[in-house]
Amino acid sequence: MKAIVVGAGVIGVTVAYELNHAGFDVTVFDQAADAALGATDANGGLLTPSMSDPWNAPGIWKDLLRWIGRDDAPMLLRLSAFPRIIPWGIRFLIASRPDLVDRASRLNAELGHFSLQCLDELRSAVRLGFAHKSVGTMKIYRNSAALEAGVVKSAKIADLGVVSVRLDAEEAVRLEPALRPIRHELAGALHFPEDQSGHAPLFARALARHTADAGVTYHFSSPVSGLLVEQGCVAGVRHEGGITRGDIVVLASGHALGLLAADGGIRVPVSPVKGYSITLPVGQATPGAQAPLPAIPMLDDDLHAAITPLGDQLRIAGTAEFVGLDASIAKGRVDNLCALVRQILPEHAGTLLTGDLGARAGFRPMSADGLPIFGAGKVKGVYLAGGHGALGWTQSLGTARLLRQMILGQATAMPVAAFSPERFSR
Ligand SMILES: Cc1cc2nc3c(=O)[nH]c(=O)nc-3n(C[C@H](O)[C@H](O)[C@H](O)COP(=O)(O)OP(=O)(O)OC[C@H]3O[C@@H](n4cnc5c(N)ncnc54)[C@H](O)[C@@H]3O)c2cc1C
Repeated sequence: MKAIVVGAGVIGVTVAYELNHAGFDVTVFDQAADAALGATDANGGLLTPSMSDPWNAPGIWKDLLRWIGRDDAPMLLRLSAFPRIIPWGIRFLIASRPDLVDRASRLNAELGHFSLQCLDELRSAVRLGFAHKSVGTMKIYRNSAALEAGVVKSAKIADLGVVSVRLDAEEAVRLEPALRPIRHELAGALHFPEDQSGHAPLFARALARHTADAGVTYHFSSPVSGLLVEQGCVAGVRHEGGITRGDIVVLASGHALGLLAADGGIRVPVSPVKGYSITLPVGQATPGAQAPLPAIPMLDDDLHAAITPLGDQLRIAGTAEFVGLDASIAKGRVDNLCALVRQILPEHAGTLLTGDLGARAGFRPMSADGLPIFGAGKVKGVYLAGGHGALGWTQSLGTARLLRQMILGQATAMPVAAFSPERFSR
């Protein structure tokens, strides 16, 4: 059986890995010059079933209105996103009902948890260098109300295997001495010992190389322009070089998922939500610093941003901007990430922020209801895998494994109906 995968982000590459394992003859197309140059490239590196709550929190519309035009806002709606964002935005707001958000959180957590089991399996089978760490993650809070809300949120997914440990400021500093200079500002922290971290683009590129060695064919700089459909079944894809035939086609085209999916007869609401990262080398020691650099990835809930140690680098990533497909790097948004470094690592900020910041921007492929979209499309042989929003790295391997099981008609390792593309047709 011939399988074609469109997109070589972390989702496309993990799907290629699973299908190659299942004995498919796999060909991957990507319009970029290498794997993982889309959203995956800017990724913050967190593997966090603990961060499973979707971004359309109840009351989010009030925040979005309040934050319009504010460059320091964690979530910024720019006027340039209009009018394209309206249909997606209406669904996004409808899905912010508390019961729907709780449901999505639980489903995301379950998928994330399963995905990390698949990653553990893969790591014991294949050696890939991607600065992987299993030291958990830590969410730090500067005000008690936010900490209490975080505790409540975590309790809702505790039965799904997402362990959280509440820490007071002293305990947080004991676990992560890098926080010592700001301990008086902390209301406390939550430690998620089961979370992991790793360099997502390095992982995806290494896995692409591994799968290429195992027989997967990659065509880079090759945009797919449409699906080839014959007698109601998919028969391949169209691209600049002509047509490539296949028995199944998996669309893993990130924020562009909706475009090709429509060609396959199904409409899915996926919107690009821009995020930024900066990547700082940690080579030189900071003269006179009392506290070390962080060993545990740390998240600042207020800013939707994280600091992740990735080998000899720190990656600071986050913030969300609804700005259509404007890929330019906005100085104000990068300044926010620098401000986070100054706030959390005051002793090191001067050294870290000298020189090239390695600023990147990427479009999170955000589904309107906060859940990823994977499963069969309307046209026979077409499958979708995308819409993972802020959790694509966390959920990639689980998504790929479940999709493989669906394609093979096997029992899936966890229930998958909630992720089906069909949910948007009802
Ligand atoms: C700043 C930032 C920080 C993030 N941090 C985290 C994190 O810490 N943890 C986490 O779990 N997730 C995180 N995410 C989210 C995660 O990175 C994404 O959900 C994930 O990368 C999506 O993967 P993807 O393969 O679906 O999309 P992409 O990586 O965007 O890949 C899609 C690919 O499809 C290709 N493509 C599109 N259309 C076509 C076409 N017509 N023909 C051929 N190729 C096509 C593109 O070139 C691209 O390579 C972050 C995202 C951002 C932007």
